[in-house]
Amino acid sequence: MPTRSAFPVATRLIAIVVMGWLAFASRTAPACSQDKDPTVEQLAKDPALFLQSAGKRLKWEEPADPARILGPIYFVGTKGLGVFLITGTEGHVLIYTGMPNSGPLIEKSIRQLGFKPGDVKLILTGHAHIDHVGGHAHLKQVCGARIAMMREEQELFESGGKLDFHYSSYKEFLFEPAEVDVVFNDEDEIKLGDISIKALLTPGHTRGSTSYVTKVTDSGKSYTVVFPDGTGINPGYHLSDKPSYPGIEANYRRTLKTLESLQPDVWLAPHNEAYGLNAKLERVAKEGAKAWLDLAGYQKWVATRRAAFEATLAAERASHSKTD
Ligand SMILES: [Zn+2]
Ligand SMILES: [Zn+2]
Repeated sequence: MPTRSAFPVATRLIAIVVMGWLAFASRTAPACSQDKDPTVEQLAKDPALFLQSAGKRLKWEEPADPARILGPIYFVGTKGLGVFLITGTEGHVLIYTGMPNSGPLIEKSIRQLGFKPGDVKLILTGHAHIDHVGGHAHLKQVCGARIAMMREEQELFESGGKLDFHYSSYKEFLFEPAEVDVVFNDEDEIKLGDISIKALLTPGHTRGSTSYVTKVTDSGKSYTVVFPDGTGINPGYHLSDKPSYPGIEANYRRTLKTLESLQPDVWLAPHNEAYGLNAKLERVAKEGAKAWLDLAGYQKWVATRRAAFEATLAAERASHSKTD
């Protein structure tokens, strides 16, 4: 069958994309592991396996020590997932909340740092997938915080994942929904006391994926910090050939352009391996704040995201031309 004969070509190219995503996992997999790595085809066909495999390998649900990052920004996530607390004069902002069972771990980390969960006033996320909003409902309740979200992501979040264009039929991807209290739009400034965070609509991975830009001061110096999102192309997503949703290809293009235009001093992200949390934490003891300065690392990462996008498109074109 033409479709079948074209599949290996496409698969090889898609493999570049997916294996980039899972590269960190392969390097850190225990040598004694009995598990066989799932193939790219398996991951694309079986989203539940993809979620389980990525979560386990990247340690999404393993507790991690909280840490000061820079100025008022603290890490309160798990070994694999970035969750950040930005402290301020009139309460704190939490960005991302990890998996559903991350909620209590985040609360504990906030306390361990000497802050009160009850002082968290706003909860943000990069996009409404279970690994970044899993703890939203729990933390909204225990902190008494308001959930703020990009307009284009509100419906997906409030559906608990049931409106996801790719994962809606997989119960493993559903999360506890909650009401969005504050809706913002592209380029809005989210303000709380002395905290000001600019929200940028960076769609693609979901329709309302959001990146954030903020300025912080550490030892009298000012730094621009970016939390990028929206570039991930998951196994099974289609961009040009039977697109996963209308406009997905244009969305990724727009997002890559937006992220390429940013010049952060420091970047943090919802997946720790992306921005190299562990390596930077190790350097902090010797180098202090300097360890977080990583414009080159950010630009390199954005370049890999563009390469992954182009590789996916090329794979789709190769697959399509063989089936014409
Ligand atoms: Zn996602
Ligand atoms: Zn994710």
